[in-house]
Amino acid sequence: MTNNVVITGANRGIGLAMAQLFSAQGDKVYALCRQSSNDLDALTSSGVEVIENIDVATDIGIKMMLRALAGVAVDVLVCNAGILRDENLLSFNLDTMREQFEVNTLGPLKVVHALQMQLNDGGKIAMITSRMGSIADNGSGGRFGYRMSKAALNIASVSLSKDLAHREIAVGIYHPGYVQTDMVGGRGDIPAEEAAGRIVGLINALDMSETGVFKHSNGEVLPW
Ligand code: NDP
Repeated sequence: MTNNVVITGANRGIGLAMAQLFSAQGDKVYALCRQSSNDLDALTSSGVEVIENIDVATDIGIKMMLRALAGVAVDVLVCNAGILRDENLLSFNLDTMREQFEVNTLGPLKVVHALQMQLNDGGKIAMITSRMGSIADNGSGGRFGYRMSKAALNIASVSLSKDLAHREIAVGIYHPGYVQTDMVGGRGDIPAEEAAGRIVGLINALDMSETGVFKHSNGEVLPW
């Protein structure tokens, strides 16, 4: 069955790799981004629709998204766009903390809110979060903005799983692993294609029995 799949932050990294993989399995992909890339443009020949100027942190970005997706019934919504900044007690920066909250927490929530009526009953939402948002797993401290924004995304995602259960919309909450993308300066254990492949597999298998569950892309259930 061909699904309509919407992905935010699809111009590079894990989002780009997911766009390629969903398209390769026959889904219709709407690749949202602020600005496209050569790699994303190359996917248009296989039917991927590239939608630019979608900054998930801005009201205009959300409006542009709604305009571009008018009439599209969404089967799978992947909230992938995110940023990583760095703060600790010595380099304290409230601006970057707020910025991460806007992009990593409120961004995905605004996207879901805006598209809720276009999501098909029985559809799926995938939140790309991070194990750094796990309170139980915080063994090294620091990174205030990123950790708080992803922990807040996690609890918002659980609320969504409850709020959308009556429509049988399942919400998957995924940590991709430590992935070799720009976000981590190319360091990481696995390439974006591998992380994306695992996440696409988890999304394909996602159903209501696993809604609201926080998982590593390797399938392990993670502690909050
Ligand atoms: P990248 O930095 O490679 O890609 C981030 C993507 O998010 C880019 O497409 C970027 O677009 C987009 N983005 C950033 N800000 C906005 C915004 N305001 N509006 C719309 N799009 C935006 O990182 P990854 O691919 O690694 O990250 C993808 C997700 O995976 C993120 O949510 C991240 O937190 C998460 N993650 C990644 C890990 C890793 O090890 N890489 C580990 C744990 C979680 P643009 O090019 O315009 O900046």
